[in-house]
Amino acid sequence: MPITLERRKCLRTPLVGLEIFSRNTGELIGMSRDITPYGMFIETKNLLVPGIKILLEFKLPGQVIPIKAYSEVKWVRRSTTLEAGPSGMGAHFLGIYESDKQRLAKYSESLAKQEKINSDNFTLVDFLKVSGDDLFMKTKPVWGYIEDMKQKGFYTYRRPLLSACRNRVVIFDETTGKEREMIMMGSNNYLGLTAHPKVIRAAEEAIEKYGTGAGSVPLLAGTYYLHKELEAKLAKLKGCEDAVIFPTGYSTNVGCLSALVKEKDLAVLDRLTHASIIDGCMMSSGKFRTFQHSDMQNLREVLERNKDSFDGKLIAVDGVYSMDGDAAPLPEIVDIAQEYGARVMVDDAHATGVIGERGRGTASHFKMVGKIDIVMGTLSKALGQLGGFVASSKEVVNYLRCFARSYFFSSSLPPVVVASVLAAIEVMESEPELHQNLWKNIKYFKENLQYLGFNIRNSESAIIPIIIGDELLLRKMSKRIHEEGIYINPIPYPAVPRNQTRFRASIMATHTREDLDTTLEVLEKVGREFGVIKKGLAIFSRKAA
Ligand code: PMP
Repeated sequence: MPITLERRKCLRTPLVGLEIFSRNTGELIGMSRDITPYGMFIETKNLLVPGIKILLEFKLPGQVIPIKAYSEVKWVRRSTTLEAGPSGMGAHFLGIYESDKQRLAKYSESLAKQEKINSDNFTLVDFLKVSGDDLFMKTKPVWGYIEDMKQKGFYTYRRPLLSACRNRVVIFDETTGKEREMIMMGSNNYLGLTAHPKVIRAAEEAIEKYGTGAGSVPLLAGTYYLHKELEAKLAKLKGCEDAVIFPTGYSTNVGCLSALVKEKDLAVLDRLTHASIIDGCMMSSGKFRTFQHSDMQNLREVLERNKDSFDGKLIAVDGVYSMDGDAAPLPEIVDIAQEYGARVMVDDAHATGVIGERGRGTASHFKMVGKIDIVMGTLSKALGQLGGFVASSKEVVNYLRCFARSYFFSSSLPPVVVASVLAAIEVMESEPELHQNLWKNIKYFKENLQYLGFNIRNSESAIIPIIIGDELLLRKMSKRIHEEGIYINPIPYPAVPRNQTRFRASIMATHTREDLDTTLEVLEKVGREFGVIKKGLAIFSRKAA
């Protein structure tokens, strides 16, 4: 059947995990992901060639009689990035009994209208393709999904804080309707600078002097002397000629990549770079390719394959990866870049304040200060405020001031934020004990997690992933850990691969030994309850670091 308007307008419903068989061979082909009366997406690694015809058979939930559909594989998706979704193929139904079509239509409709959804069977990605005649049709099942998560106590996101973000916080617990203290293990406030007395004093003075907002965009009336002072300070911190500040880290990456990577240029990204780098590439008129995470051989292959097809090339990586906490192999990346005439950009969001000499970042960590073409950073993590920046040569920075749309079309950071960052950098440089304490805490926490038997991968920073795997297990554990008073973030698919969901523990310089021990005890207890770590050792025994 040709694609008709009717086909495009029909309900596309997430129908996850139905086993789809081939009637020809009797083999399991894959699992359904979304379905219409006219076709379906089948998640599978065993992709067939487009054009192949096949008789599909599957059963709708709760129904005994299978549906048979003579189908054609129309397209395949060989997924290399998380954003692209799972690998699989789109099958169009060529011949299907009218009664089976009606059954499917009815089932789709009832699912989309369902007020109640069993969230256990879904992830958010499953709802991405829902559509219908009414624009808001897609919002209904997502509402049902989140409501079900909340009802089950699985929704441990947006837990509202009632206090400053310190090692211990007070939250309003929406599951009990009461205030409670929790140990904060989920914040990017690595040095605890959001609540440092010197930073607070600087903010108070700035409010007194400048008021609250900047009042305009940077190129018009929104640049204060403070902004220029901060740009100079950040350039010095990163060993670059100049720097430009943006309203957020996200808009920094979007603005920088979309301004620099033009029609004939190519950006080559590590598969795990932050979403804002990918979004920046998607907004640019250039092309982008990805390479396997920190795989230098694969980076070389991608560059080799594309070496004659583009003008300028940019390799973009995270200095410290936000979901794994490992560092990019910068010396090798810079060598390969030189070989292929590419420039290098490093996102130092989670590296600033954490790795390198007194937290100067990735370049300092690898003793390569001044050798990175573009250092991007955020003011929102260890520096404790809000905003982002690019440090580079004076020509690149000037170019971004002229062409990065998220810079000049967006209002400047309020002077109070800028003054607070200046004070935070001052503290970072004058109180090295904060950085030392952060590393003492990281070492202690990591060693004990490993000792307990958790899989924490190869973290080299203040971000420590605790791999769980299955998403439903992650939700159940998250509820229990919350009940035990630990504020730690569960990271589901698609932020990480489907079978690698995790808790993302973030260490702060201001955590006390007692905070870390209590957290370890809770993780041990809950880890054993759910069989993530072995039952054997019943008594928590700390490893002195
Ligand atoms: N880059 C990375 C690696 C990040 O983790 C983040 C924030 N999660 C950003 C950029 C965006 O920074 P911001 O939150 O300041 O917008």
